Amino acid sequence: MSAIPPIPLTMLAPQALGVRTHCPYCAFQCGMLMGEDLGGDLPRVSGDPHWAVNNGQLCIKGWTSAALLDHPQRVNTPQLRDARGEWRSAEWEEALDFVAVKMLAIREKHGADANGVFGSGALTNEKAYLLGKFARLALGTANIDYNGRFCMSSAAAAQNRAFGLDRGLPFPVADVEHAEVVMLVGANTADTLPPMMQWFDRQQANGGRLIVADPRRTPTGRLANLFLQLTPGTDLALANGLLYVVIEERLTDERYVADRTNGFDAVRAVALQYHPARVERLTGIAESQLRQAARWLATARSAMVLTGRGTEQHSKGVDSVHAWINLMLALGKVGKPQSGFGTLTGQANGQGGREHGQKADQLPGYRLIEVDAHREAIAKVWGVEPASLPRKGKSAYELLDSLGESVKSLFVVGANVAVAAPHLSHLLPKLKALELLVVSDAFHNDTSAHAHVFLPVLQWAEEDGTMTNLEGRVIRRRVVSRPPTGPRSDLDVLHQLASRLGCGEKFVFRTTESVFNELRLATAGAPADYSGITYAKIEQQDGVFWPCKSEDDPGTPRMFADRFHHADGRAKFFAVEHREAGEEPNAAFPLFFTTGRYKEHYNSGAQTRIVGKLSSAQPVPRLEIHPRLARRHRVVTGSHVTVESRRAKVEFVAEVTADIRPDTLFAPFHWGGRAAANLLTSGALDPTSRMPEFKLAAVRIAKVG
Ligand code: SF4
Repeated sequence: MSAIPPIPLTMLAPQALGVRTHCPYCAFQCGMLMGEDLGGDLPRVSGDPHWAVNNGQLCIKGWTSAALLDHPQRVNTPQLRDARGEWRSAEWEEALDFVAVKMLAIREKHGADANGVFGSGALTNEKAYLLGKFARLALGTANIDYNGRFCMSSAAAAQNRAFGLDRGLPFPVADVEHAEVVMLVGANTADTLPPMMQWFDRQQANGGRLIVADPRRTPTGRLANLFLQLTPGTDLALANGLLYVVIEERLTDERYVADRTNGFDAVRAVALQYHPARVERLTGIAESQLRQAARWLATARSAMVLTGRGTEQHSKGVDSVHAWINLMLALGKVGKPQSGFGTLTGQANGQGGREHGQKADQLPGYRLIEVDAHREAIAKVWGVEPASLPRKGKSAYELLDSLGESVKSLFVVGANVAVAAPHLSHLLPKLKALELLVVSDAFHNDTSAHAHVFLPVLQWAEEDGTMTNLEGRVIRRRVVSRPPTGPRSDLDVLHQLASRLGCGEKFVFRTTESVFNELRLATAGAPADYSGITYAKIEQQDGVFWPCKSEDDPGTPRMFADRFHHADGRAKFFAVEHREAGEEPNAAFPLFFTTGRYKEHYNSGAQTRIVGKLSSAQPVPRLEIHPRLARRHRVVTGSHVTVESRRAKVEFVAEVTADIRPDTLFAPFHWGGRAAANLLTSGALDPTSRMPEFKLAAVRIAKVG
């Protein structure tokens, strides 16, 4: 195959501190000012005081993010395995030829769907869009999904069903400041989104009340005016119990329910089964606390419920989110000023990443791959026949579960499935059974340890593009740092591979902006309509909230004020019942095990575990255990303990803390290998979103020795 010159992406000259860009990590996408090599003790990163989301604040991950740019472990040349299974450097042409030849052979022998693609919520909108196009056109496979399935899919599914549209926060984060009551459910923002705490601080300083529901008294829970330490997996019962109180005390907004919603009668009938005494048995929340929370939410002029992964990462995650939405619709709060329901997106571009076609059932703009009109719209933009587009593929866990069986190759772009997926003891051998595993990233990670090919790519500050933050605000990521010679953009890699697969002409883009312009075209008239967003408008307005339907349209910071996105303009209630988790504690496995995050680490830890300041602050995962349970097992802080589920046994160092329930253990999931918390979690999936149940496994504990 002949060499194809790389795409000349837009490259701005690196400048002194002062280039406005955004943090590489989470969906808060803090505004940053960056410059190159200022020398001395000066940081190369500072918070952007004029970015109205973080107002100059960064967390420790943001402050240390520039350490990744000149990190000694950076991979600068493509790598292939030699005959002994060791990595050897290769030229780009050799590596790309090797990948393409293998993909073609697998397609020839096993069919197009035997090539799988696994994307990421960390990719820019342009990359997410092009990766979906690459899978459907160049590979012709239905099997593309991404790690956002593990993160956001339950909230997304419930919002799409209830409101007709999913945007994590349907209002700017600054609205929090003026809400009289905010309820955070399963969200530890003090650790996961530290700069967001300024908005809760202001809200409380204004006389507002903060309610937090979580099985752990987290740093966020400690700040709450009312803390509800519920049993893991009972969020749905708690929300139904709150609705019971609201109905019983005649606090529903009957006018709003009649004018703006459908389906309340069925929900009312179900909610009335959730008497506070029953809810207390299920959740552990006392009736007095339940009534207090319900009255605060109902009688406040403005109130919002914000959910996180604690509610969503369950085999009943979609129904749990529905229960919270039902409550806020019954209170008539959704679409009102400084009020409503929202979910706190986790990954850097978790919002944009789920809108532009790297999900097995979706096409760009939140179009659905099984809807003929949506297929026709995208086929027209891509210049192909609608019938040539693959149908819906396997969801993330199911895709990984089929590796080595119906799926023979996997192209992993910006994800680390060997840490972030559940039930790793089951999935890791499947990675090893692949005929071809290609990892595209800046650093080796736990997944590339099993790969046949490693393709080194540019990092966040080395190329431009757009991200969509947790508010649905489309923002610009800018070039700040000159990349080393060797790594290429993912956009270039996709073009090069597509050319070798016989489809290169569909992937010729002169600049990143030209990819965005095709994305705009592909989303015109779609639910997530970006067609009116331009790079210039993003500059002028400090970001543009979608939907934005024309160049005259300033965008939509607040949604649902007048109508919802169903054809009749009304929101839908869904009657949902509490049900057991995929597995509940029993005599053999008597404890709940739940997972979460440290403020020093991001997701699978592939980036943050190699940053010295972060890894020295949190070098290993610790198992949180209540003093009562610890005494029973003669465990003290620092003891080595094993935690065992039906799937695996993992050794941790114990941290005894009264902040956790006596029936629950907690460990972070940022580590791989033998310390991987996800060895313990199960492959139970939500039936609608196909999101795994990361937040609940039944386990037992033993002291080592
Ligand atoms: Fe902000 Fe998130 Fe980056 Fe921390 S990790 S600086 S909260 S964007």
